[in-house]
Amino acid sequence: MPELAYINGDVMPIDDAVVSVEDRGYQFGDAVYEVIASYGGKMFCVKEHFARLDRSMKELHFPKVQIDEIRRAAIDLFSKAKIERAAVYIQVSRGVSPRNHAFPGKIPVQVVMTVRKIEEKNPPIREMGISTITVEDLRWGRCDIKTVQLLPNVLAKQKALDAGCYDAIFISKDGIVREGSSSNLFILSGGTLITHPLTPDILPGITRSLVLDICREKEYPVQERFFDKRELYEADEVFLTGTITEVLPVVRIDGRAVSNGKVGPAARALQEGLLGRLKSE
Ligand code: PMP
Repeated sequence: MPELAYINGDVMPIDDAVVSVEDRGYQFGDAVYEVIASYGGKMFCVKEHFARLDRSMKELHFPKVQIDEIRRAAIDLFSKAKIERAAVYIQVSRGVSPRNHAFPGKIPVQVVMTVRKIEEKNPPIREMGISTITVEDLRWGRCDIKTVQLLPNVLAKQKALDAGCYDAIFISKDGIVREGSSSNLFILSGGTLITHPLTPDILPGITRSLVLDICREKEYPVQERFFDKRELYEADEVFLTGTITEVLPVVRIDGRAVSNGKVGPAARALQEGLLGRLKSE
């Protein structure tokens, strides 16, 4: 099956999908999104992703939408595409309207979706761990809302690639470690797993929450608290979490090895725990 797209109820091959230049997502970044992964032909954590999408729209005062209809359309598009290992992308903008900063009058939101195959990374970065750089977090004050305004994330990722690394870690102006350019971040320090608390400065990641659940189940000590770059550099393990990222070990930061520079046991156990959850959902 070809990779498919959906625009407001119409389904087509991705290459044929076009939206108006007056889409507010295109003009203003006035749109929110979700990415859902499938494993073995089944979309994972659908309920959680649509709850977050609904919240993002409410936080930005989008017109009321039937979130269940969008969810059904996403599931339907995914089943039409028949791609076992897919990324389902869902974007909702505040609609199509002549360019004007003010909210448009009563117009429908614009819903765009795609279903594409996820290619497994080669060489397998999960086995080797990744190198990262740190960058100043230049994002706005509502990183808890999943908007398409991703320019600081784009610049951070490219800066990492230009430095021969895989990803970038955002650090606040006052030195707090926030998250990755498209992932949350955990450290293992003195036997405790630590991650940034849920504040407007990070995305409330669905994988973050699953990993915290798994930690509690396995009775690993966890703390949701602020930590700085020194604690990051001195951690025994560092890893990123995300829907596509899963649990991805970080073995170098700003040219320094994390601990012995090898993938650690906590990241491995949590990746296994996460895959176990996928199978049991
Ligand atoms: N933080 C940011 C900035 C992200 O873009 C993502 C990926 N959506 C995450 C965290 C991880 O979120 P999730 O586990 O829900 O994919």
